[in-house]
This record gives sequence, structure tokens and C-alpha cells, in this order.
Amino acid sequence: MSSRSELLDRMMSALVSAEYTVPDWYRHGHCRLGALDPDAWFPTTPAGPDAERAKRICRRCPVTLDCLRHAVSDTDLDGIWGGTDAIERKAALRRLQRRA
Ligand code: SF4
Repeated sequence: MSSRSELLDRMMSALVSAEYTVPDWYRHGHCRLGALDPDAWFPTTPAGPDAERAKRICRRCPVTLDCLRHAVSDTDLDGIWGGTDAIERKAALRRLQRRA
């Protein structure tokens, strides 16, 4: 599983080695505004109150689609991205594959 902190670690590591640029959309994420503890995006219970609070913030975020695109491109990502948790993303991808 890949978490937000692991992604940040990868970004920071690459930044140090000048191989990676933090995506612009990530700079504008509402999860970075400090309204909630960053761990709220990695709740222990996917349908619990922390998850719902994080998803509500995602719904008002200006970069939701960029974030969701990032999440569906890496199916190992855990946590809430683009207003969805990993279970919801996997279910949506399965539905899309069945329709194809
Ligand atoms: S959609 Fe949610 S997780 Fe993604 S950047 Fe915005 S607030 Fe953060």
C-alpha cells in the first residue's frame, strides 16, 4: 500500500535529487489548508466520521479531478483521494471494466 506520506517521501526524495516536480494541483489541495489532521485522509474506518469529514473537504477542493486521476492511475494508493476511498475507487474501476 502506498500512503500520502509515502508519496510525499517519494516527492521529497526526488526533489532533493532534482528528478521530480511536485504536481501543481497538489499545491492547491484543500487537504493542505490545515482544517483537519492529515491522518483524516487515512482513516482507520473507511466509512467513519473522519473519512466523511475528509470527503466533504475533497468535494469543495479545486483539484478534485486531478487528485482522483492520480489515485486511479495507482491502484495501490490507500486513503482518500479525490473524495473517494480505495474501496470506492476499486469498485468504480470494476464497474467500468464490466461495461467495457
Ligand atoms: S481532492 Fe481531497 S485529497 Fe485531493 S487534493 Fe483535494 S482535498 Fe486533498
